[in-house]
Amino acid sequence: MTRNIIADKDLVAYCGLYCGACRSYLNEKCGGCHKNEAATWCKIRTCNISKSINSCAECNEFKNINDCGKFNNWISKVIGVVFNSHRQACIVQIQQIGLEKHAEMMAANKRQSLPRR
Ligand code: SF4
Ligand code: SF4
Repeated sequence: MTRNIIADKDLVAYCGLYCGACRSYLNEKCGGCHKNEAATWCKIRTCNISKSINSCAECNEFKNINDCGKFNNWISKVIGVVFNSHRQACIVQIQQIGLEKHAEMMAANKRQSLPRR
């Protein structure tokens, strides 16, 4: 690893993951979700950029993040189960404590996502 895990709200991905604790980011293979312009495949990223928001936590289209088909679909469910990742919980945490504290908690726990179980 060439980078250290630090708390930085700019490293919170549009979907709520914490890039600051991701192996690719720590190995300098990726600049993190916000800087990763190659990630044109990601509907969540494209949607957030078009709304000029920092994450889905700021979106007012859905009361429950699970109702958004871009955020919650069968592919994301499979990925979530395989990687034991709970992005919905990340978004809820950001709504509750804010981006900065979310980044602090994820960095302190060295977590890219909150666990499903
Ligand atoms: S899934 Fe999309 S929003 Fe989430 S980190 Fe990857 S590119 Fe960013
Ligand atoms: S919740 Fe859905 S509609 Fe709202 S910003 Fe995220 S991807 Fe876009």
